[in-house]
Amino acid sequence: MSARVAVIGGGAAGMAAAIALAEGGADVTLFEHNEKLGKKLYITGKGRCNLSNDCEAEDVLANVVHGDKFLRSAIYGFTPKDAMAFFEGLGLKIKVERGGRVFPVSDKSSDVIKALASRIDSLGVDVRLRAQVSDIRREGEEFVVDASIGKEKFDFVVIATGGASYPSTGSTGDGYKFAERFGHAIVRPTPALTALKVKQNVSGLKGLSLKNVRLTAFCGGRELKSDFGEMMFTDCALTGPIALTLSSYVTRERGVTLSLDLKPALDEKTLDNRLLREFDSRKNQDIKNVMRALLPERLNVYALERAGVDASQKVNALQREERARIVATLKDMRFDVTGTAPFTEAVITSGGVALKDVKPDGESKLQAGLYFAGEVLDVDALTGGFNLQIAWATAINAARSILKKMR
Ligand SMILES: Cc1cc2nc3c(=O)[nH]c(=O)nc-3n(C[C@H](O)[C@H](O)[C@H](O)COP(=O)(O)OP(=O)(O)OC[C@H]3O[C@@H](n4cnc5c(N)ncnc54)[C@H](O)[C@@H]3O)c2cc1C
Repeated sequence: MSARVAVIGGGAAGMAAAIALAEGGADVTLFEHNEKLGKKLYITGKGRCNLSNDCEAEDVLANVVHGDKFLRSAIYGFTPKDAMAFFEGLGLKIKVERGGRVFPVSDKSSDVIKALASRIDSLGVDVRLRAQVSDIRREGEEFVVDASIGKEKFDFVVIATGGASYPSTGSTGDGYKFAERFGHAIVRPTPALTALKVKQNVSGLKGLSLKNVRLTAFCGGRELKSDFGEMMFTDCALTGPIALTLSSYVTRERGVTLSLDLKPALDEKTLDNRLLREFDSRKNQDIKNVMRALLPERLNVYALERAGVDASQKVNALQREERARIVATLKDMRFDVTGTAPFTEAVITSGGVALKDVKPDGESKLQAGLYFAGEVLDVDALTGGFNLQIAWATAINAARSILKKMR
């Protein structure tokens, strides 16, 4: 027997859920408050849509920051290989790039949206655009979905309204409100995969990009996360790949300190010897000129200032303790985190519907027939296509569970 299913949110998870449900014979209505489907998908991967990562299920879970245990069944049930086959089945040509990142061959996210939307259309899903859902409640054996276009009754509801980041794409956090109505706890949503604001004045370093550096976050003496690679300075924050990674681990914490190691390949002794060699060969020059051999110009002056060393003094006037302070600064430049950049700039939302009251298939433990899929849940992962993999997998998992009950 068929069942009437409401999918709230026409983003990545909502579209995948609608397809799987309709393919299984459910009578699906997809509610989306934008004028078109997949507005956030459109801007993913800088407009290219890094739709998954060509890796094993276990590797996806290793890239999950919050919710790896919960996601196990969804990711094993719909692996990156399954996601790739799913998109190829929709007629989308895909390719794998550096780090296993999967993209459409055309490099156009719009082609991903077209592939999903055209399947939704051919399956006869009832797509309601400009349909803002304001309430979902239970009346007897049914759910009543209250949308700007009217009230309708359903047997099952999938909440796929996304997180709270990039609200201009339509992901405004409405799903939290719907979940709370059914008694669900919400883990406070915070911006993640975003820049880290710092107390120290870094405005002079704005735009400076660093390669092969190590950034480590500490909280109360505990190491939260360390990463090696590229980063950049803005006028008041640290950004770029490794800062973004760390943001996901620190966003829920207070009193976080960052340690920047500008020379991770050299231990303190080796770095000191290197400095000595440079200084010995250019004794009569200004320190800042000699330090150019080790650091970009602006950072060089900033580092000397942080080390409390006069940048324009001659090398031969430098004291041993001053050299030790330079080494310590280059190996462990500290920054106090004052917060993250806001939701408007955050790639992902950390927090959401608490997992303790959700079954591994996405069904609420508090209300039978109510499901959650995608970023609305308290799950998040690092960059590389993992967040979209989570959206597809949790959506397919929820759809399969509904179809099983329907039968
Ligand atoms: C700039 C940027 C780049 C990104 N790049 C990548 C990438 O390359 N790879 C990757 O894996 N991840 C990427 N992400 C993350 C990824 O886009 C999200 O994790 C993913 O879109 C989440 O899917 P979702 O379906 O749960 O939510 P969303 O895609 O946010 O969809 C939710 C939908 O619900 C609708 N909605 C919300 N409330 C209501 C309501 N009350 N009534 C009706 N409709 C409603 C919204 O309009 C929206 O269309 C990126 C994110 C951003 C912001």
